[in-house]
Amino acid sequence: SSVFNQVPLGPPIEVFALTEAYNKDSFEKKVNLGVGAYRTDKGLPWVLPVVKEVEKRLAADETLNKEYLPVLGSPAFCTAATSMLLGFDNPVLKENRAFGIQCLSGTGALRVAAEFLVKQLGSTIFYYSSPTWENHTLVFNNAGFEQGRSYRYWSAEARGLDLSGMLEDLSNAPEKSVIILHACAHNPTGCDPTQEEWEKIADVIEEKKLFPLFDSAYQGFASGDLEKDAWAVRYFVSRGFELFCTQSFAKNFGLYNERIGNLTVVMNDSEFVLTTKSQFTLVIRGMYSNPPSHGANIVANVLNNPSLFEQWKDHIRTMSSRIIEMRKALRTALEKLQTPGDWSHITSQIGMFSYTGLNENQSMYMVKKHHVYMLKSGRISMCGVTPSNVEYVAQAINETLN
Ligand code: PLP
Repeated sequence: SSVFNQVPLGPPIEVFALTEAYNKDSFEKKVNLGVGAYRTDKGLPWVLPVVKEVEKRLAADETLNKEYLPVLGSPAFCTAATSMLLGFDNPVLKENRAFGIQCLSGTGALRVAAEFLVKQLGSTIFYYSSPTWENHTLVFNNAGFEQGRSYRYWSAEARGLDLSGMLEDLSNAPEKSVIILHACAHNPTGCDPTQEEWEKIADVIEEKKLFPLFDSAYQGFASGDLEKDAWAVRYFVSRGFELFCTQSFAKNFGLYNERIGNLTVVMNDSEFVLTTKSQFTLVIRGMYSNPPSHGANIVANVLNNPSLFEQWKDHIRTMSSRIIEMRKALRTALEKLQTPGDWSHITSQIGMFSYTGLNENQSMYMVKKHHVYMLKSGRISMCGVTPSNVEYVAQAINETLN
Protein backbone atom coordinates (compact mmCIF):
# COMPACT_ATOMS: atom_id res chain seq x y z
CA SER A 1 0.00 0.00 0.00
CA SER A 2 1.01 3.60 -0.53
CA VAL A 3 -0.28 7.07 0.31
CA PHE A 4 -0.60 7.35 -3.47
CA ASN A 5 -2.86 4.32 -3.89
CA GLN A 6 -5.75 6.50 -5.05
CA VAL A 7 -3.77 8.18 -7.82
CA PRO A 8 -5.57 7.57 -11.11
CA LEU A 9 -3.68 6.64 -14.24
CA GLY A 10 -3.36 9.73 -16.45
CA PRO A 11 -4.02 9.54 -20.17
CA PRO A 12 -0.94 8.79 -22.31
CA ILE A 13 0.63 11.65 -24.28
CA GLU A 14 -0.11 10.70 -27.85
CA VAL A 15 3.19 11.66 -29.55
CA PHE A 16 5.33 9.93 -26.93
CA ALA A 17 3.19 6.79 -27.01
CA LEU A 18 3.45 6.79 -30.79
CA THR A 19 7.26 6.98 -30.74
CA GLU A 20 7.39 4.16 -28.21
CA ALA A 21 5.24 1.99 -30.47
CA TYR A 22 7.39 2.94 -33.45
CA ASN A 23 10.59 1.98 -31.62
CA LYS A 24 9.14 -1.43 -30.76
CA ASP A 25 8.03 -2.11 -34.35
CA SER A 26 10.44 -4.39 -36.24
CA PHE A 27 8.90 -3.77 -39.70
CA GLU A 28 11.69 -2.76 -42.07
CA LYS A 29 9.88 0.07 -43.85
CA LYS A 30 8.31 1.64 -40.77
CA VAL A 31 8.13 5.45 -40.83
CA ASN A 32 7.78 7.84 -37.89
CA LEU A 33 5.74 10.87 -38.87
CA GLY A 34 4.74 11.67 -35.31
CA VAL A 35 7.73 13.33 -33.74
CA GLY A 36 8.26 17.07 -34.18
CA ALA A 37 12.00 17.15 -34.67
CA TYR A 38 14.12 17.79 -37.76
CA ARG A 39 15.68 14.81 -39.51
CA THR A 40 18.31 14.68 -42.24
CA ASP A 41 17.72 13.02 -45.61
CA LYS A 42 18.84 9.82 -43.93
CA GLY A 43 16.26 10.22 -41.18
CA LEU A 44 18.80 11.11 -38.49
CA PRO A 45 18.83 13.95 -35.92
CA TRP A 46 21.03 16.94 -36.87
CA VAL A 47 23.25 18.91 -34.51
CA LEU A 48 23.81 22.19 -36.35
CA PRO A 49 27.51 22.69 -37.23
CA VAL A 50 27.38 26.24 -35.86
CA VAL A 51 26.16 24.86 -32.52
CA LYS A 52 29.06 22.37 -32.41
CA GLU A 53 31.47 25.18 -33.23
CA VAL A 54 30.18 27.41 -30.41
CA GLU A 55 30.21 24.51 -27.96
CA LYS A 56 33.91 23.99 -28.69
CA ARG A 57 34.57 27.67 -28.02
CA LEU A 58 32.55 27.57 -24.80
CA ALA A 59 34.43 24.50 -23.58
CA ALA A 60 37.72 26.33 -24.12
CA ASP A 61 36.57 29.58 -22.51
CA GLU A 62 38.31 29.90 -19.15
CA THR A 63 36.24 32.93 -18.16
CA LEU A 64 33.00 30.94 -17.91
CA ASN A 65 31.94 29.51 -14.58
CA LYS A 66 28.94 27.78 -13.03
CA GLU A 67 27.56 30.70 -11.03
CA TYR A 68 23.79 31.24 -10.99
CA LEU A 69 22.28 33.30 -13.77
CA PRO A 70 19.92 36.15 -12.82
CA VAL A 71 16.30 35.03 -12.18
CA LEU A 72 15.20 36.50 -15.52
CA GLY A 73 18.12 34.89 -17.35
CA SER A 74 21.18 35.91 -19.31
CA PRO A 75 20.83 39.56 -20.40
CA ALA A 76 22.92 38.98 -23.56
CA PHE A 77 20.62 36.13 -24.57
CA CYS A 78 17.36 37.91 -23.74
CA THR A 79 18.27 41.04 -25.67
CA ALA A 80 19.42 39.03 -28.68
CA ALA A 81 16.31 36.82 -28.68
CA THR A 82 13.89 39.74 -28.35
CA SER A 83 15.73 41.66 -31.09
CA MET A 84 15.61 38.66 -33.39
CA LEU A 85 11.86 38.50 -32.95
CA LEU A 86 11.03 42.18 -33.24
CA GLY A 87 13.79 43.17 -35.66
CA PHE A 88 17.05 44.67 -34.41
CA ASP A 89 15.98 48.24 -35.19
CA ASN A 90 12.39 48.06 -33.91
CA PRO A 91 11.59 51.40 -32.20
CA VAL A 92 10.03 49.65 -29.18
CA LEU A 93 13.53 48.45 -28.27
CA LYS A 94 14.96 51.97 -28.29
CA GLU A 95 11.95 53.17 -26.33
CA ASN A 96 12.75 50.56 -23.66
CA ARG A 97 9.27 49.12 -23.70
CA ALA A 98 10.12 45.62 -24.83
CA PHE A 99 12.22 43.08 -22.97
CA GLY A 100 12.96 39.37 -22.86
CA ILE A 101 12.92 36.77 -20.13
CA GLN A 102 14.94 33.59 -20.56
CA CYS A 103 12.70 30.57 -20.04
CA LEU A 104 12.77 26.79 -20.27
CA SER A 105 12.14 26.56 -24.01
CA GLY A 106 8.80 27.50 -25.55
CA THR A 107 6.78 25.48 -23.07
CA GLY A 108 8.47 27.12 -20.09
CA ALA A 109 7.88 30.56 -21.59
CA LEU A 110 4.19 29.74 -21.99
CA ARG A 111 3.99 28.57 -18.39
CA VAL A 112 5.70 31.70 -17.03
CA ALA A 113 3.50 33.91 -19.22
CA ALA A 114 0.34 32.11 -18.11
CA GLU A 115 1.19 32.27 -14.42
CA PHE A 116 1.98 35.98 -14.65
CA LEU A 117 -1.25 36.67 -16.57
CA VAL A 118 -3.40 34.75 -14.09
CA LYS A 119 -2.05 36.93 -11.32
CA GLN A 120 -1.86 40.30 -13.10
CA LEU A 121 -4.28 40.50 -16.01
CA GLY A 122 -7.52 39.98 -14.16
CA SER A 123 -8.89 37.30 -16.47
CA THR A 124 -8.71 33.53 -16.30
CA ILE A 125 -10.15 32.89 -19.74
CA PHE A 126 -7.91 31.88 -22.61
CA TYR A 127 -8.69 31.04 -26.20
CA TYR A 128 -6.84 28.56 -28.37
CA SER A 129 -7.29 27.64 -32.00
CA SER A 130 -9.28 24.57 -32.90
CA PRO A 131 -7.15 22.56 -33.32
CA THR A 132 -3.96 23.64 -31.56
CA TRP A 133 -0.73 22.19 -30.16
CA GLU A 134 -2.18 19.85 -27.56
CA ASN A 135 -0.06 21.22 -24.72
CA HIS A 136 -1.55 24.73 -24.68
CA THR A 137 -4.52 23.77 -22.54
CA LEU A 138 -2.49 21.69 -20.08
CA VAL A 139 0.04 24.49 -19.56
CA PHE A 140 -2.62 27.16 -19.09
CA ASN A 141 -4.77 25.03 -16.81
CA ASN A 142 -1.79 24.03 -14.67
CA ALA A 143 -0.88 27.72 -14.36
CA GLY A 144 -4.33 28.50 -12.93
CA PHE A 145 -6.44 29.54 -15.93
CA GLU A 146 -9.98 28.38 -15.30
CA GLN A 147 -11.49 28.43 -18.70
CA GLY A 148 -10.05 27.38 -21.99
CA ARG A 149 -12.25 28.06 -24.97
CA SER A 150 -11.51 27.28 -28.56
CA TYR A 151 -11.92 29.56 -31.54
CA ARG A 152 -12.62 28.12 -34.98
CA TYR A 153 -9.50 27.94 -37.12
CA TRP A 154 -9.31 24.99 -39.47
CA SER A 155 -12.03 24.19 -41.94
CA ALA A 156 -11.92 20.50 -42.84
CA GLU A 157 -14.00 21.03 -45.99
CA ALA A 158 -11.86 23.86 -47.30
CA ARG A 159 -8.67 22.31 -45.92
CA GLY A 160 -7.74 25.84 -44.94
CA LEU A 161 -8.43 28.69 -42.54
CA ASP A 162 -11.98 29.30 -41.34
CA LEU A 163 -11.49 33.07 -41.09
CA SER A 164 -15.12 34.06 -40.62
CA GLY A 165 -15.57 31.43 -37.87
CA MET A 166 -12.41 32.64 -36.17
CA LEU A 167 -13.43 36.30 -36.29
CA GLU A 168 -16.90 35.50 -34.99
CA ASP A 169 -15.57 33.48 -32.04
CA LEU A 170 -13.01 36.14 -31.14
CA SER A 171 -15.61 38.87 -31.33
CA ASN A 172 -17.65 37.00 -28.71
CA ALA A 173 -14.71 36.71 -26.30
CA PRO A 174 -14.98 38.65 -23.03
CA GLU A 175 -12.65 41.64 -22.61
CA LYS A 176 -9.10 40.74 -21.50
CA SER A 177 -9.36 37.13 -22.60
CA VAL A 178 -5.92 35.83 -23.56
CA ILE A 179 -5.83 34.84 -27.22
CA ILE A 180 -3.13 32.31 -28.09
CA LEU A 181 -2.00 32.84 -31.68
CA HIS A 182 0.62 30.86 -33.56
CA ALA A 183 3.19 33.32 -34.90
CA CYS A 184 3.89 31.15 -37.95
CA ALA A 185 3.74 27.53 -39.10
CA HIS A 186 0.57 26.74 -37.17
CA ASN A 187 0.83 23.44 -35.30
CA PRO A 188 -0.83 21.07 -36.22
CA THR A 189 -2.36 22.37 -39.45
CA GLY A 190 0.58 24.12 -41.17
CA CYS A 191 -1.99 26.71 -42.25
CA ASP A 192 -1.27 30.39 -41.46
CA PRO A 193 -3.44 33.45 -42.02
CA THR A 194 -2.39 35.71 -44.90
CA GLN A 195 -1.32 39.29 -44.15
CA GLU A 196 -4.80 40.60 -45.00
CA GLU A 197 -6.34 37.99 -42.71
CA TRP A 198 -3.98 38.95 -39.86
CA GLU A 199 -5.15 42.54 -40.26
CA LYS A 200 -8.75 41.48 -39.72
CA ILE A 201 -7.77 39.34 -36.72
CA ALA A 202 -5.91 42.31 -35.22
CA ASP A 203 -8.97 44.53 -35.74
CA VAL A 204 -11.17 42.23 -33.65
CA ILE A 205 -8.57 41.78 -30.92
CA GLU A 206 -8.17 45.54 -30.70
CA GLU A 207 -11.86 46.33 -30.78
CA LYS A 208 -12.77 43.71 -28.17
CA LYS A 209 -9.77 44.61 -25.94
CA LEU A 210 -8.39 41.06 -25.92
CA PHE A 211 -4.82 40.18 -24.98
CA PRO A 212 -2.72 38.60 -27.77
CA LEU A 213 -0.16 35.99 -26.83
CA PHE A 214 1.89 34.79 -29.78
CA ASP A 215 3.52 31.39 -29.63
CA SER A 216 6.59 31.45 -31.87
CA ALA A 217 8.15 27.99 -32.01
CA TYR A 218 9.34 28.10 -35.63
CA GLN A 219 10.88 31.48 -36.49
CA GLY A 220 13.21 30.96 -39.46
CA PHE A 221 12.43 27.27 -39.53
CA ALA A 222 9.16 27.79 -41.40
CA SER A 223 10.17 29.82 -44.45
CA GLY A 224 13.95 30.02 -43.96
CA ASP A 225 13.54 33.78 -43.45
CA LEU A 226 13.58 35.22 -39.93
CA GLU A 227 11.76 38.40 -40.98
CA LYS A 228 8.98 36.69 -42.87
CA ASP A 229 8.25 34.27 -40.03
CA ALA A 230 8.02 37.18 -37.56
CA TRP A 231 5.75 39.28 -39.75
CA ALA A 232 2.54 38.79 -37.75
CA VAL A 233 4.15 39.61 -34.39
CA ARG A 234 5.87 42.71 -35.81
CA TYR A 235 2.64 43.82 -37.45
CA PHE A 236 0.77 43.66 -34.12
CA VAL A 237 3.60 45.55 -32.41
CA SER A 238 3.56 48.23 -35.13
CA ARG A 239 -0.15 48.72 -34.49
CA GLY A 240 0.57 49.50 -30.85
CA PHE A 241 -0.65 46.31 -29.17
CA GLU A 242 0.72 45.29 -25.81
CA LEU A 243 1.50 41.61 -26.18
CA PHE A 244 3.56 38.62 -25.14
CA CYS A 245 5.42 36.29 -27.45
CA THR A 246 6.86 32.98 -26.31
CA GLN A 247 9.89 31.92 -28.34
CA SER A 248 11.39 28.47 -28.64
CA PHE A 249 14.91 27.78 -29.90
CA ALA A 250 14.27 24.03 -30.01
CA LYS A 251 13.55 23.74 -33.74
CA ASN A 252 15.41 26.63 -35.34
CA PHE A 253 18.64 25.85 -33.42
CA GLY A 254 18.04 22.12 -33.04
CA LEU A 255 18.41 22.63 -29.27
CA TYR A 256 15.45 20.47 -28.26
CA ASN A 257 16.88 19.11 -25.02
CA GLU A 258 18.68 22.27 -23.92
CA ARG A 259 15.31 23.85 -23.07
CA ILE A 260 16.14 27.33 -24.27
CA GLY A 261 13.39 29.84 -24.90
CA ASN A 262 12.49 33.46 -24.36
CA LEU A 263 9.38 35.35 -23.37
CA THR A 264 9.21 38.70 -25.14
CA VAL A 265 7.06 41.29 -23.42
CA VAL A 266 5.98 44.40 -25.32
CA MET A 267 4.40 47.19 -23.29
CA ASN A 268 2.97 50.59 -24.17
CA ASP A 269 4.83 52.55 -21.55
CA SER A 270 8.39 52.02 -20.29
CA GLU A 271 7.33 53.42 -16.91
CA PHE A 272 5.75 50.09 -15.98
CA VAL A 273 8.58 47.82 -17.08
CA LEU A 274 10.28 47.74 -13.68
CA THR A 275 7.18 46.69 -11.73
CA THR A 276 6.25 44.14 -14.38
CA LYS A 277 9.73 42.61 -14.27
CA SER A 278 9.55 42.47 -10.47
CA GLN A 279 6.41 40.30 -10.68
CA PHE A 280 7.95 38.01 -13.30
CA THR A 281 10.89 37.66 -10.95
CA LEU A 282 8.58 36.40 -8.20
CA VAL A 283 6.83 33.96 -10.55
CA ILE A 284 10.15 32.43 -11.65
CA ARG A 285 11.83 32.57 -8.25
CA GLY A 286 9.01 30.45 -6.86
CA MET A 287 8.96 28.07 -9.82
CA TYR A 288 12.59 27.15 -10.57
CA SER A 289 14.55 30.13 -9.20
CA ASN A 290 16.71 30.73 -12.28
CA PRO A 291 17.43 29.15 -15.66
CA PRO A 292 20.35 27.04 -16.94
CA SER A 293 23.04 28.71 -19.02
CA HIS A 294 24.26 26.37 -21.74
CA GLY A 295 21.54 26.90 -24.36
CA ALA A 296 21.49 30.63 -23.64
CA ASN A 297 25.25 30.86 -24.21
CA ILE A 298 24.97 29.04 -27.53
CA VAL A 299 22.13 31.19 -28.87
CA ALA A 300 23.59 34.48 -27.61
CA ASN A 301 27.00 33.71 -29.13
CA VAL A 302 25.48 32.92 -32.51
CA LEU A 303 23.08 35.87 -32.64
CA ASN A 304 25.70 38.34 -31.43
CA ASN A 305 28.45 37.31 -33.84
CA PRO A 306 27.91 38.37 -37.49
CA SER A 307 29.77 35.46 -39.06
CA LEU A 308 28.19 32.78 -36.85
CA PHE A 309 24.80 34.44 -37.42
CA GLU A 310 25.27 34.08 -41.20
CA GLN A 311 26.24 30.40 -40.77
CA TRP A 312 23.12 29.79 -38.71
CA LYS A 313 20.89 31.53 -41.25
CA ASP A 314 22.32 29.12 -43.78
CA HIS A 315 21.35 26.19 -41.55
CA ILE A 316 17.77 27.37 -41.17
CA ARG A 317 17.53 27.72 -44.95
CA THR A 318 18.81 24.14 -45.30
CA MET A 319 16.20 22.81 -42.86
CA SER A 320 13.27 24.76 -44.21
CA SER A 321 14.07 24.04 -47.85
CA ARG A 322 14.38 20.33 -47.21
CA ILE A 323 10.92 20.36 -45.67
CA ILE A 324 9.53 22.39 -48.58
CA GLU A 325 11.15 19.91 -51.02
CA MET A 326 9.56 16.97 -49.23
CA ARG A 327 6.16 18.66 -49.38
CA LYS A 328 6.56 18.92 -53.16
CA ALA A 329 7.76 15.32 -53.41
CA LEU A 330 4.87 13.96 -51.36
CA ARG A 331 2.28 15.92 -53.31
CA THR A 332 3.79 14.82 -56.64
CA ALA A 333 3.84 11.17 -55.56
CA LEU A 334 0.21 11.30 -54.40
CA GLU A 335 -0.91 12.97 -57.62
CA LYS A 336 1.02 10.45 -59.73
CA LEU A 337 -0.85 7.65 -57.97
CA GLN A 338 -4.11 9.54 -58.59
CA THR A 339 -4.88 9.34 -54.90
CA PRO A 340 -8.49 10.49 -54.38
CA GLY A 341 -8.78 14.13 -53.34
CA ASP A 342 -6.98 17.41 -53.87
CA TRP A 343 -3.42 17.48 -52.46
CA SER A 344 -2.54 21.12 -53.05
CA HIS A 345 -2.78 21.81 -49.30
CA ILE A 346 0.37 19.72 -48.76
CA THR A 347 2.45 22.37 -50.52
CA SER A 348 0.46 25.41 -49.45
CA GLN A 349 0.89 24.52 -45.78
CA ILE A 350 4.07 25.67 -44.06
CA GLY A 351 6.43 24.45 -41.36
CA MET A 352 7.05 21.12 -39.78
CA PHE A 353 3.52 19.75 -39.78
CA SER A 354 0.89 18.95 -42.29
CA TYR A 355 -2.74 18.16 -41.78
CA THR A 356 -3.28 15.48 -44.37
CA GLY A 357 -7.05 15.47 -44.17
CA LEU A 358 -7.06 11.79 -43.21
CA ASN A 359 -9.62 11.10 -40.49
CA GLU A 360 -9.04 9.20 -37.26
CA ASN A 361 -9.86 5.76 -38.68
CA GLN A 362 -7.73 6.31 -41.73
CA SER A 363 -4.82 7.59 -39.63
CA MET A 364 -4.99 4.59 -37.31
CA TYR A 365 -5.16 2.30 -40.33
CA MET A 366 -1.96 3.94 -41.65
CA VAL A 367 -0.26 2.96 -38.39
CA LYS A 368 -1.63 -0.57 -38.15
CA LYS A 369 -1.53 -1.63 -41.77
CA HIS A 370 1.38 0.36 -43.16
CA HIS A 371 3.54 1.04 -40.08
CA VAL A 372 3.40 4.76 -40.92
CA TYR A 373 3.15 6.35 -37.47
CA MET A 374 1.02 9.51 -37.46
CA LEU A 375 -1.37 11.24 -35.06
CA LYS A 376 -5.06 10.34 -34.99
CA SER A 377 -5.86 13.86 -36.14
CA GLY A 378 -4.20 13.12 -39.48
CA ARG A 379 -1.20 15.29 -38.64
CA ILE A 380 2.13 14.24 -40.08
CA SER A 381 5.56 15.70 -39.41
CA MET A 382 7.15 16.56 -42.74
CA CYS A 383 10.57 16.03 -41.12
CA GLY A 384 9.92 12.30 -41.04
CA VAL A 385 9.35 12.22 -44.82
CA THR A 386 12.66 11.59 -46.64
CA PRO A 387 13.67 10.95 -50.26
CA SER A 388 13.93 7.25 -49.44
CA ASN A 389 10.48 6.83 -47.86
CA VAL A 390 8.31 9.38 -49.66
CA GLU A 391 7.10 6.85 -52.28
CA TYR A 392 6.22 4.36 -49.57
CA VAL A 393 4.30 7.01 -47.57
CA ALA A 394 2.38 8.08 -50.69
CA GLN A 395 1.51 4.47 -51.55
CA ALA A 396 0.30 3.91 -47.99
CA ILE A 397 -1.95 7.00 -48.13
CA ASN A 398 -3.18 5.96 -51.56
CA GLU A 399 -4.04 2.43 -50.44
CA THR A 400 -5.77 3.77 -47.32
CA LEU A 401 -8.01 6.07 -49.35
CA ASN A 402 -8.92 3.51 -52.00
N1 PLP B 1 4.42 25.81 -29.22
C1 PLP B 1 4.21 25.09 -30.32
C2 PLP B 1 3.11 25.49 -31.23
C3 PLP B 1 5.00 23.97 -30.58
O1 PLP B 1 4.76 23.27 -31.69
C4 PLP B 1 6.04 23.64 -29.69
C5 PLP B 1 6.82 22.44 -29.93
O2 PLP B 1 6.40 21.46 -30.51
C6 PLP B 1 6.23 24.45 -28.58
C7 PLP B 1 5.40 25.53 -28.37
C8 PLP B 1 7.27 24.30 -27.53
O3 PLP B 1 8.28 23.45 -27.66
P1 PLP B 1 9.53 23.52 -26.69
O4 PLP B 1 9.02 23.60 -25.30
O5 PLP B 1 10.24 22.26 -26.97
O6 PLP B 1 10.30 24.73 -27.07
